[in-house]
Amino acid sequence: MRVLMLGTSAAAPDPDRGGSAILITVEGHHYLFDCGANATRSMIAGNVDPTTVNTVFLSHLHYDHIVDFPYFLLTTWICNREVAPVVVGPEGTQNFVDHLFADGAFAKDIEARMQYANRKVNAHVLTPDVRECAPGVVFEDERVVVTACYVEHIPQEITPCFGLRLDAKKEGKSVSFSGDTAPCDRFVELSMGVDLMIHECTFPESALAFRRKANVGTWSHTSPIELGKLAQAAKAERLVATHFGSYDTTNPIVKKIMSIHMPAEIIGPDLLEEVAADIQKSYDGELRLAHDLMRIDL
Ligand SMILES: [Zn+2]
Ligand SMILES: [Zn+2]
Repeated sequence: MRVLMLGTSAAAPDPDRGGSAILITVEGHHYLFDCGANATRSMIAGNVDPTTVNTVFLSHLHYDHIVDFPYFLLTTWICNREVAPVVVGPEGTQNFVDHLFADGAFAKDIEARMQYANRKVNAHVLTPDVRECAPGVVFEDERVVVTACYVEHIPQEITPCFGLRLDAKKEGKSVSFSGDTAPCDRFVELSMGVDLMIHECTFPESALAFRRKANVGTWSHTSPIELGKLAQAAKAERLVATHFGSYDTTNPIVKKIMSIHMPAEIIGPDLLEEVAADIQKSYDGELRLAHDLMRIDL
């Protein structure tokens, strides 16, 4: 099994990190988890042909996890994609997809390109097989089974958010992905004994008090100290922390954007060391902090 971190940032536009996206490859078949900004270009940078990515899981409908999906599908359509992808996501995914293609935001683009016979041939790919899911097994084929649980991120009455776990049948390996969440017992349970846990770690401890006072960002996330505890509780063999709120940036514009969330003077690459040390206060497995195109072989 191969895991490729396609995008590792949270919602801020960061030239060094794409939006949330992870590609898991089992027996040569690709499974995409989230499709945040730059996911498709990142696949190509990682030597993965996006026209061969046929199964997509969306953890939740925040834009930093889905905004590249129309680009992914439209651009693979014009690159001769043959198969309409399966898209597994929360309630609301069908509505999201329906408003993109033939009758949606890109209707005129599609109408224009369909004047050419070679675009009509594979126009069926623009109607993905959307499967809105509930907790439990959400997908299964001959290679993998994917299970989901609710996590604690957006109030469920607005939209449900999922954590996901993929088990590779023949290889016997497993990966869990938190999506966005506050520490969540259901996700710990879902991840029990997993070979690799990929978990969000949006803000460092030193940003938390500032954020509370500034009253920015209403939705829940997990701090490094909390992450160390829950990864240890889940007995995760390895841990990749991701979905960084760009607190390691050296870019002056991103720094300015992130200074809404934390004191500008603490922003920079040194914060990653603080984050790793805080996670390791409780977690004694193998820890890596994600960067775009990081590859993990299991
Ligand atoms: Zn997010
Ligand atoms: Zn989110």
